[in-house]
Amino acid sequence: MDWQDFPAWGARVSDWAAEYHTSLRDRPVRAQTRPGDILRALPGSAPEAAEDLEAIWQDFHEIVMPGMTHWQHPRFFAYFNSNAAPASVLAEYLASTVAAQCMLWQTSPAATEMETRMMDWLRQGLGLPEGFPGVIQDSASSATLAAVLTMRERALGWAGNRDGLPGQKAIRVYASAEVHTSIDRAIWIAGIGQANLVRIPTQGQLRSMDPAALCAAIESDLAAGHLPAGIIACTGATGVGACDDIAATCAVARDFDLYTHVDAAWAGTAMICPEYRDLWAGIEEADSVVFNPHKWLGAQFDCSAHFLRSPEDLTRTLAIQPEYLKTHGADGIINYSEWSIPLGRRFRALKLWFLMRAYGMEGLRAMIRNHVDWTAALCESLRSDPRIEITSEAVLALFSFALRDGDDDAVQAWINRINDDGRIYLTQTRLDGRLVIRFTAGQFLSEERDFTTAGEVIRALL
Ligand SMILES: *Cc1c(COP(=O)(O)O)cnc(C)c1O
Repeated sequence: MDWQDFPAWGARVSDWAAEYHTSLRDRPVRAQTRPGDILRALPGSAPEAAEDLEAIWQDFHEIVMPGMTHWQHPRFFAYFNSNAAPASVLAEYLASTVAAQCMLWQTSPAATEMETRMMDWLRQGLGLPEGFPGVIQDSASSATLAAVLTMRERALGWAGNRDGLPGQKAIRVYASAEVHTSIDRAIWIAGIGQANLVRIPTQGQLRSMDPAALCAAIESDLAAGHLPAGIIACTGATGVGACDDIAATCAVARDFDLYTHVDAAWAGTAMICPEYRDLWAGIEEADSVVFNPHKWLGAQFDCSAHFLRSPEDLTRTLAIQPEYLKTHGADGIINYSEWSIPLGRRFRALKLWFLMRAYGMEGLRAMIRNHVDWTAALCESLRSDPRIEITSEAVLALFSFALRDGDDDAVQAWINRINDDGRIYLTQTRLDGRLVIRFTAGQFLSEERDFTTAGEVIRALL
Protein backbone atom coordinates (compact mmCIF):
# COMPACT_ATOMS: atom_id res chain seq x y z
CA MET A 1 0.00 0.00 0.00
CA ASP A 2 1.23 3.52 -0.71
CA TRP A 3 -0.08 7.07 -0.41
CA GLN A 4 -1.84 6.82 -3.81
CA ASP A 5 -4.17 4.21 -2.29
CA PHE A 6 -4.77 6.31 0.80
CA PRO A 7 -7.75 8.47 -0.20
CA ALA A 8 -9.93 5.51 -1.15
CA TRP A 9 -9.04 3.61 2.01
CA GLY A 10 -9.43 6.71 4.14
CA ALA A 11 -12.95 7.14 2.79
CA ARG A 12 -13.84 3.51 3.52
CA VAL A 13 -12.52 3.76 7.06
CA SER A 14 -14.39 6.98 7.79
CA ASP A 15 -17.64 5.58 6.35
CA TRP A 16 -17.21 2.58 8.60
CA ALA A 17 -16.34 4.80 11.61
CA ALA A 18 -19.56 6.80 11.34
CA GLU A 19 -21.64 3.65 10.84
CA TYR A 20 -19.92 1.96 13.80
CA HIS A 21 -20.59 4.82 16.20
CA THR A 22 -24.19 5.34 15.15
CA SER A 23 -25.10 1.64 15.39
CA LEU A 24 -23.40 0.86 18.69
CA ARG A 25 -26.68 0.37 20.57
CA ASP A 26 -27.24 -2.85 18.59
CA ARG A 27 -24.06 -4.48 19.90
CA PRO A 28 -23.39 -6.11 23.29
CA VAL A 29 -21.28 -3.66 25.29
CA ARG A 30 -18.69 -6.08 26.63
CA ALA A 31 -16.84 -8.46 24.32
CA GLN A 32 -18.43 -11.90 24.62
CA THR A 33 -15.14 -13.64 23.78
CA ARG A 34 -13.35 -16.52 25.56
CA PRO A 35 -9.67 -16.21 26.51
CA GLY A 36 -7.47 -17.37 23.61
CA ASP A 37 -10.13 -16.99 20.85
CA ILE A 38 -8.36 -14.10 19.15
CA LEU A 39 -4.85 -15.42 19.71
CA ARG A 40 -5.77 -18.68 17.96
CA ALA A 41 -7.16 -16.77 14.97
CA LEU A 42 -3.86 -14.93 14.40
CA PRO A 43 -1.01 -16.65 12.49
CA GLY A 44 2.07 -17.47 14.55
CA SER A 45 4.46 -15.32 12.49
CA ALA A 46 4.41 -12.29 10.19
CA PRO A 47 3.91 -12.95 6.45
CA GLU A 48 7.03 -12.92 4.26
CA ALA A 49 5.15 -11.62 1.24
CA ALA A 50 3.11 -8.41 1.24
CA GLU A 51 -0.62 -8.93 1.61
CA ASP A 52 -3.44 -7.01 0.04
CA LEU A 53 -5.06 -4.42 2.31
CA GLU A 54 -8.45 -5.84 1.31
CA ALA A 55 -7.57 -9.10 3.12
CA ILE A 56 -6.35 -7.25 6.21
CA TRP A 57 -9.55 -5.17 6.24
CA GLN A 58 -11.70 -8.34 6.06
CA ASP A 59 -9.80 -9.90 8.95
CA PHE A 60 -10.21 -6.73 10.99
CA HIS A 61 -13.97 -7.23 10.82
CA GLU A 62 -13.93 -11.00 11.28
CA ILE A 63 -11.21 -11.46 13.88
CA VAL A 64 -10.74 -8.18 15.71
CA MET A 65 -14.13 -6.54 16.07
CA PRO A 66 -15.86 -9.54 17.73
CA GLY A 67 -13.17 -9.34 20.42
CA MET A 68 -13.65 -5.66 21.21
CA THR A 69 -15.45 -4.20 24.21
CA HIS A 70 -17.27 -1.12 22.98
CA TRP A 71 -16.03 1.74 25.13
CA GLN A 72 -17.97 4.26 23.05
CA HIS A 73 -21.24 2.38 23.57
CA PRO A 74 -23.96 4.66 25.03
CA ARG A 75 -24.67 2.03 27.70
CA PHE A 76 -21.08 1.63 28.88
CA PHE A 77 -21.40 2.28 32.62
CA ALA A 78 -18.24 0.48 33.79
CA TYR A 79 -14.80 1.65 35.06
CA PHE A 80 -14.71 5.31 34.00
CA ASN A 81 -15.71 6.32 30.50
CA SER A 82 -13.13 7.06 27.86
CA ASN A 83 -14.75 9.22 25.21
CA ALA A 84 -13.72 9.85 21.63
CA ALA A 85 -15.72 12.76 20.28
CA PRO A 86 -15.67 12.77 16.46
CA ALA A 87 -13.91 16.16 16.27
CA SER A 88 -11.19 14.76 18.51
CA VAL A 89 -10.85 11.63 16.37
CA LEU A 90 -10.31 13.83 13.30
CA ALA A 91 -7.60 15.77 15.10
CA GLU A 92 -5.85 12.53 16.06
CA TYR A 93 -6.01 11.43 12.44
CA LEU A 94 -4.28 14.66 11.44
CA ALA A 95 -1.72 14.42 14.25
CA SER A 96 -0.82 10.86 13.30
CA THR A 97 -0.61 11.82 9.64
CA VAL A 98 1.84 14.64 10.29
CA ALA A 99 3.50 12.36 12.87
CA ALA A 100 5.80 14.93 14.45
CA GLN A 101 7.83 14.29 17.61
CA CYS A 102 6.87 17.27 19.73
CA MET A 103 9.54 16.97 22.40
CA LEU A 104 11.16 20.39 21.98
CA TRP A 105 9.85 23.76 20.91
CA GLN A 106 11.86 23.61 17.69
CA THR A 107 10.76 20.08 16.81
CA SER A 108 7.30 21.61 16.21
CA PRO A 109 6.68 25.13 17.49
CA ALA A 110 2.96 24.86 16.71
CA ALA A 111 2.58 21.83 18.98
CA THR A 112 4.36 23.51 21.89
CA GLU A 113 2.54 26.82 21.61
CA MET A 114 -0.81 25.09 21.05
CA GLU A 115 -0.16 23.05 24.19
CA THR A 116 0.52 26.20 26.22
CA ARG A 117 -2.68 27.79 24.93
CA MET A 118 -4.87 24.70 25.36
CA MET A 119 -3.68 24.15 28.92
CA ASP A 120 -4.67 27.72 29.63
CA TRP A 121 -8.10 27.24 28.05
CA LEU A 122 -8.56 24.23 30.33
CA ARG A 123 -7.27 26.14 33.35
CA GLN A 124 -9.85 28.85 32.80
CA GLY A 125 -12.52 26.22 32.13
CA LEU A 126 -11.86 24.59 35.50
CA GLY A 127 -11.80 27.92 37.33
CA LEU A 128 -8.16 27.58 38.41
CA PRO A 129 -6.38 30.86 39.12
CA GLU A 130 -3.82 32.41 36.82
CA GLY A 131 -0.29 31.26 37.46
CA PHE A 132 -1.18 27.60 37.09
CA PRO A 133 0.56 26.59 33.86
CA GLY A 134 0.42 23.02 32.71
CA VAL A 135 1.58 20.24 30.46
CA ILE A 136 -0.18 17.41 28.68
CA GLN A 137 1.05 14.05 29.99
CA ASP A 138 0.25 10.68 28.46
CA SER A 139 -1.63 9.50 31.54
CA ALA A 140 -2.57 10.44 35.08
CA SER A 141 -0.20 7.70 36.20
CA SER A 142 2.72 9.56 34.57
CA ALA A 143 1.63 12.89 36.02
CA THR A 144 1.44 11.37 39.49
CA LEU A 145 4.87 9.78 39.09
CA ALA A 146 6.30 13.14 38.01
CA ALA A 147 4.69 14.77 41.07
CA VAL A 148 6.01 12.09 43.44
CA LEU A 149 9.53 12.46 42.02
CA THR A 150 9.22 16.22 42.48
CA MET A 151 8.14 15.92 46.11
CA ARG A 152 10.98 13.47 46.72
CA GLU A 153 13.62 15.75 45.19
CA ARG A 154 12.26 18.83 46.91
CA ALA A 155 12.38 17.10 50.30
CA LEU A 156 15.94 15.85 49.64
CA GLY A 157 17.19 19.32 48.70
CA TRP A 158 17.46 18.08 45.06
CA ALA A 159 20.07 15.47 45.97
CA GLY A 160 18.18 12.25 45.14
CA ASN A 161 18.83 12.20 41.40
CA ARG A 162 22.50 12.88 42.02
CA ASP A 163 23.32 10.71 45.02
CA GLY A 164 20.61 8.06 44.97
CA LEU A 165 18.51 7.17 47.99
CA PRO A 166 20.79 4.94 50.11
CA GLY A 167 21.73 6.63 53.36
CA GLN A 168 18.78 9.02 53.21
CA LYS A 169 16.10 9.20 55.87
CA ALA A 170 12.86 7.36 55.09
CA ILE A 171 10.89 9.61 52.69
CA ARG A 172 7.24 9.68 53.75
CA VAL A 173 4.19 10.40 51.58
CA TYR A 174 0.62 10.63 52.89
CA ALA A 175 -2.66 9.58 51.26
CA SER A 176 -5.92 7.89 52.18
CA ALA A 177 -6.72 4.28 51.32
CA GLU A 178 -9.14 5.55 48.64
CA VAL A 179 -6.51 6.81 46.19
CA HIS A 180 -5.90 5.05 42.88
CA THR A 181 -3.23 2.35 42.61
CA SER A 182 -1.23 4.65 40.30
CA ILE A 183 -0.17 6.36 43.55
CA ASP A 184 1.23 3.11 44.96
CA ARG A 185 3.11 2.46 41.74
CA ALA A 186 4.55 5.98 41.67
CA ILE A 187 5.81 5.39 45.21
CA TRP A 188 7.42 2.10 44.16
CA ILE A 189 9.06 3.52 41.05
CA ALA A 190 10.34 6.61 42.89
CA GLY A 191 12.22 4.29 45.25
CA ILE A 192 10.24 5.48 48.27
CA GLY A 193 8.78 2.07 49.06
CA GLN A 194 5.24 1.01 49.86
CA ALA A 195 6.03 0.98 53.59
CA ASN A 196 6.55 4.76 53.41
CA LEU A 197 3.16 5.48 51.88
CA VAL A 198 1.31 6.40 55.04
CA ARG A 199 -2.45 5.75 54.91
CA ILE A 200 -4.53 8.39 56.65
CA PRO A 201 -7.98 7.34 57.96
CA THR A 202 -11.01 8.87 56.25
CA GLN A 203 -14.21 10.35 57.58
CA GLY A 204 -17.67 11.38 56.43
CA GLN A 205 -19.77 10.49 53.44
CA LEU A 206 -17.09 11.71 51.01
CA ARG A 207 -14.47 9.50 52.70
CA SER A 208 -12.02 12.37 53.02
CA MET A 209 -8.72 12.25 54.89
CA ASP A 210 -9.06 13.32 58.50
CA PRO A 211 -6.86 16.46 58.72
CA ALA A 212 -6.14 15.91 62.43
CA ALA A 213 -4.98 12.35 61.74
CA LEU A 214 -2.86 13.64 58.83
CA CYS A 215 -1.24 16.20 61.08
CA ALA A 216 -0.59 13.61 63.80
CA ALA A 217 0.99 11.18 61.32
CA ILE A 218 3.39 13.84 60.06
CA GLU A 219 4.35 14.90 63.58
CA SER A 220 4.99 11.34 64.65
CA ASP A 221 7.15 10.75 61.51
CA LEU A 222 9.19 13.86 62.28
CA ALA A 223 9.67 12.66 65.85
CA ALA A 224 10.84 9.28 64.49
CA GLY A 225 13.46 11.00 62.32
CA HIS A 226 11.70 10.37 58.99
CA LEU A 227 11.47 12.85 56.10
CA PRO A 228 7.89 13.87 55.22
CA ALA A 229 7.82 14.89 51.53
CA GLY A 230 4.29 15.32 50.31
CA ILE A 231 0.59 14.59 50.39
CA ILE A 232 -1.51 13.03 47.64
CA ALA A 233 -5.16 13.98 47.80
CA CYS A 234 -7.98 12.83 45.55
CA THR A 235 -11.07 14.43 44.09
CA GLY A 236 -13.35 11.65 42.85
CA ALA A 237 -11.38 8.48 43.60
CA THR A 238 -11.97 5.46 41.43
CA GLY A 239 -13.77 3.12 43.85
CA VAL A 240 -16.75 5.19 44.97
CA GLY A 241 -15.65 8.77 44.23
CA ALA A 242 -14.00 9.74 47.54
CA CYS A 243 -13.07 13.44 47.76
CA ASP A 244 -10.50 14.78 50.19
CA ASP A 245 -10.98 18.17 51.79
CA ILE A 246 -8.45 19.98 49.61
CA ALA A 247 -8.45 23.23 51.62
CA ALA A 248 -7.78 21.39 54.90
CA THR A 249 -5.17 19.13 53.28
CA CYS A 250 -3.30 22.09 51.78
CA ALA A 251 -3.41 23.90 55.12
CA VAL A 252 -1.63 20.95 56.75
CA ALA A 253 0.85 20.80 53.86
CA ARG A 254 1.64 24.49 54.36
CA ASP A 255 2.26 24.03 58.08
CA PHE A 256 4.88 21.37 57.35
CA ASP A 257 6.16 22.73 54.01
CA LEU A 258 5.04 19.64 52.09
CA TYR A 259 4.23 19.31 48.38
CA THR A 260 0.59 18.54 47.50
CA HIS A 261 -0.57 16.60 44.45
CA VAL A 262 -4.29 16.23 43.69
CA ASP A 263 -5.48 13.30 41.59
CA ALA A 264 -8.76 14.35 39.94
CA ALA A 265 -8.26 12.09 36.91
CA TRP A 266 -11.96 11.42 36.43
CA ALA A 267 -13.81 14.15 38.38
CA GLY A 268 -11.67 17.05 37.19
CA THR A 269 -13.70 17.29 33.98
CA ALA A 270 -16.85 18.10 35.96
CA MET A 271 -15.15 21.23 37.32
CA ILE A 272 -15.92 22.98 34.04
CA CYS A 273 -19.34 23.35 35.71
CA PRO A 274 -19.00 25.89 38.54
CA GLU A 275 -21.73 24.22 40.62
CA TYR A 276 -19.54 21.13 41.28
CA ARG A 277 -16.41 23.00 42.35
CA ASP A 278 -17.27 22.66 46.05
CA LEU A 279 -15.91 19.12 45.72
CA TRP A 280 -12.39 20.49 45.38
CA ALA A 281 -12.67 23.81 47.23
CA GLY A 282 -9.17 25.09 48.03
CA ILE A 283 -7.65 23.61 44.86
CA GLU A 284 -5.78 26.85 44.13
CA GLU A 285 -3.51 26.01 47.07
CA ALA A 286 -2.33 22.68 45.58
CA ASP A 287 1.11 22.38 43.97
CA SER A 288 0.11 19.87 41.31
CA VAL A 289 -3.27 18.84 39.90
CA VAL A 290 -4.02 16.21 37.28
CA PHE A 291 -7.20 15.41 35.37
CA ASN A 292 -7.82 13.33 32.27
CA PRO A 293 -9.56 14.97 29.32
CA HIS A 294 -9.34 11.42 27.92
CA LYS A 295 -11.97 10.26 30.36
CA TRP A 296 -15.05 12.44 30.57
CA LEU A 297 -14.21 15.54 28.50
CA GLY A 298 -14.23 13.83 25.10
CA ALA A 299 -10.60 13.80 23.95
CA GLN A 300 -9.66 10.21 23.30
CA PHE A 301 -6.79 8.45 24.99
CA ASP A 302 -4.18 9.65 25.60
CA CYS A 303 -4.52 13.14 27.04
CA SER A 304 -3.88 13.96 30.69
CA ALA A 305 -3.83 17.60 31.82
CA HIS A 306 -1.27 18.32 34.54
CA PHE A 307 -1.29 21.78 36.19
CA LEU A 308 1.62 23.03 38.27
CA ARG A 309 1.98 26.01 40.54
CA SER A 310 5.73 25.90 40.13
CA PRO A 311 6.84 24.11 36.96
CA GLU A 312 10.40 24.98 37.99
CA ASP A 313 10.20 22.33 40.75
CA LEU A 314 9.17 19.77 38.13
CA THR A 315 11.79 20.71 35.53
CA ARG A 316 14.45 20.84 38.21
CA THR A 317 13.54 17.21 38.87
CA LEU A 318 13.15 15.97 35.29
CA ALA A 319 15.04 18.20 32.86
CA ILE A 320 18.26 16.99 31.35
CA GLN A 321 19.95 18.72 28.45
CA PRO A 322 22.56 16.84 26.46
CA GLU A 323 24.03 18.89 23.64
CA TYR A 324 21.92 17.14 21.01
CA LEU A 325 18.72 18.42 22.65
CA LYS A 326 19.79 22.03 23.11
CA THR A 327 18.02 24.78 21.24
CA HIS A 328 20.43 27.59 20.59
CA GLY A 329 19.46 31.14 19.85
CA ALA A 330 15.86 31.04 21.10
CA ASP A 331 15.20 32.37 24.60
CA GLY A 332 12.05 31.95 26.64
CA ILE A 333 10.87 28.84 24.86
CA ILE A 334 9.30 25.82 26.52
CA ASN A 335 10.56 22.30 25.86
CA TYR A 336 7.72 20.20 27.23
CA SER A 337 9.81 17.03 27.29
CA GLU A 338 11.50 18.60 30.32
CA TRP A 339 8.13 18.48 32.09
CA SER A 340 7.51 14.78 31.59
CA ILE A 341 9.15 11.38 31.86
CA PRO A 342 9.21 10.21 28.21
CA LEU A 343 11.27 12.28 25.80
CA GLY A 344 9.11 11.69 22.73
CA ARG A 345 5.70 13.35 22.69
CA ARG A 346 2.71 13.25 20.37
CA PHE A 347 0.82 16.36 19.28
CA ARG A 348 -1.94 15.90 21.85
CA ALA A 349 -3.03 19.52 22.12
CA LEU A 350 -4.55 19.40 18.63
CA LYS A 351 -7.45 17.22 19.73
CA LEU A 352 -8.22 19.57 22.63
CA TRP A 353 -8.36 22.47 20.21
CA PHE A 354 -10.72 20.64 17.87
CA LEU A 355 -12.81 19.40 20.79
CA MET A 356 -13.29 22.68 22.68
CA ARG A 357 -14.05 24.56 19.48
CA ALA A 358 -16.40 21.97 17.99
CA TYR A 359 -18.54 21.65 21.15
CA GLY A 360 -17.94 24.92 22.94
CA MET A 361 -17.48 24.91 26.70
CA GLU A 362 -21.25 25.29 27.11
CA GLY A 363 -21.86 22.18 24.99
CA LEU A 364 -19.41 20.20 27.12
CA ARG A 365 -20.99 21.45 30.34
CA ALA A 366 -24.44 20.41 29.12
CA MET A 367 -23.14 16.88 28.54
CA ILE A 368 -21.64 16.61 32.04
CA ARG A 369 -24.78 18.00 33.70
CA ASN A 370 -26.98 15.48 31.91
CA HIS A 371 -24.80 12.60 33.05
CA VAL A 372 -24.88 13.81 36.66
CA ASP A 373 -28.65 14.40 36.67
CA TRP A 374 -29.55 11.12 34.97
CA THR A 375 -27.25 9.21 37.33
CA ALA A 376 -28.98 10.80 40.35
CA ALA A 377 -32.38 9.81 38.94
CA LEU A 378 -31.26 6.20 38.40
CA CYS A 379 -29.84 6.08 41.93
CA GLU A 380 -33.22 7.19 43.33
CA SER A 381 -35.12 4.67 41.26
CA LEU A 382 -32.90 1.79 42.44
CA ARG A 383 -33.22 2.99 46.04
CA SER A 384 -36.97 2.55 45.82
CA ASP A 385 -36.53 -1.19 45.15
CA PRO A 386 -36.60 -2.98 48.54
CA ARG A 387 -34.19 -5.67 47.26
CA ILE A 388 -31.47 -3.12 46.45
CA GLU A 389 -29.25 -1.17 48.84
CA ILE A 390 -27.45 2.00 47.75
CA THR A 391 -24.01 1.47 49.29
CA SER A 392 -22.48 4.84 48.38
CA GLU A 393 -24.32 8.00 47.44
CA ALA A 394 -23.81 9.58 44.03
CA VAL A 395 -20.66 11.69 43.68
CA LEU A 396 -21.16 13.44 40.34
CA ALA A 397 -22.00 10.50 38.03
CA LEU A 398 -20.88 7.58 40.24
CA PHE A 399 -22.68 5.56 42.89
CA SER A 400 -22.58 1.98 44.10
CA PHE A 401 -25.19 -0.54 45.12
CA ALA A 402 -25.55 -4.12 46.31
CA LEU A 403 -28.16 -6.62 47.43
CA ARG A 404 -29.90 -5.81 50.68
CA ASP A 405 -29.85 -9.55 51.47
CA GLY A 406 -27.12 -11.41 49.69
CA ASP A 407 -23.43 -12.16 50.04
CA ASP A 408 -20.52 -11.34 47.71
CA ASP A 409 -21.14 -14.47 45.65
CA ALA A 410 -24.71 -13.43 44.96
CA VAL A 411 -23.57 -9.93 43.95
CA GLN A 412 -20.87 -11.35 41.65
CA ALA A 413 -23.43 -13.66 40.04
CA TRP A 414 -25.71 -10.67 39.49
CA ILE A 415 -22.93 -8.66 37.78
CA ASN A 416 -22.06 -11.65 35.60
CA ARG A 417 -25.69 -12.03 34.50
CA ILE A 418 -25.82 -8.33 33.65
CA ASN A 419 -22.61 -8.32 31.62
CA ASP A 420 -23.36 -11.60 29.85
CA ASP A 421 -26.72 -10.12 28.83
CA GLY A 422 -24.78 -7.37 27.03
CA ARG A 423 -27.26 -4.48 27.06
CA ILE A 424 -25.25 -2.60 29.68
CA TYR A 425 -21.78 -2.98 31.19
CA LEU A 426 -21.04 -2.50 34.91
CA THR A 427 -18.01 -3.28 37.09
CA GLN A 428 -17.55 -3.93 40.79
CA THR A 429 -15.44 -2.60 43.65
CA ARG A 430 -14.84 -3.48 47.28
CA LEU A 431 -16.33 -1.09 49.82
CA ASP A 432 -15.37 -1.68 53.47
CA GLY A 433 -14.63 -5.28 52.57
CA ARG A 434 -17.91 -5.86 50.78
CA LEU A 435 -18.37 -6.47 47.03
CA VAL A 436 -20.56 -3.74 45.52
CA ILE A 437 -21.54 -2.78 41.97
CA ARG A 438 -20.43 0.58 40.59
CA PHE A 439 -22.59 2.59 38.24
CA THR A 440 -20.85 5.42 36.47
CA ALA A 441 -21.96 7.42 33.45
CA GLY A 442 -20.02 9.67 31.12
CA GLN A 443 -20.49 8.54 27.52
CA PHE A 444 -21.15 11.34 25.07
CA LEU A 445 -23.69 9.28 23.12
CA SER A 446 -25.71 8.34 26.22
CA GLU A 447 -29.29 9.52 26.31
CA GLU A 448 -31.80 9.45 29.14
CA ARG A 449 -33.36 6.30 27.67
CA ASP A 450 -30.06 4.47 28.17
CA PHE A 451 -30.28 5.12 31.89
CA THR A 452 -33.87 3.84 31.87
CA THR A 453 -32.67 0.67 30.14
CA ALA A 454 -29.91 0.34 32.75
CA GLY A 455 -32.48 0.45 35.57
CA GLU A 456 -34.64 -2.17 33.80
CA VAL A 457 -31.73 -4.53 33.17
CA ILE A 458 -30.38 -4.21 36.73
CA ARG A 459 -33.78 -5.09 38.21
CA ALA A 460 -34.73 -7.76 35.68
CA LEU A 461 -31.54 -9.72 36.20
CA LEU A 462 -31.57 -9.55 40.00
C1 LIG B 1 -8.29 6.58 35.73
C2 LIG B 1 -7.65 7.07 36.95
C3 LIG B 1 -6.26 7.08 37.09
C4 LIG B 1 -5.34 6.49 36.06
O1 LIG B 1 -5.38 7.21 34.89
P1 LIG B 1 -4.39 6.88 33.68
O2 LIG B 1 -4.48 8.11 32.83
O3 LIG B 1 -4.95 5.67 33.02
O4 LIG B 1 -3.05 6.65 34.24
C5 LIG B 1 -5.74 7.63 38.24
N1 LIG B 1 -6.52 8.13 39.21
C6 LIG B 1 -7.87 8.12 39.12
C7 LIG B 1 -8.69 8.72 40.20
C8 LIG B 1 -8.47 7.59 37.98
O5 LIG B 1 -9.81 7.61 37.88
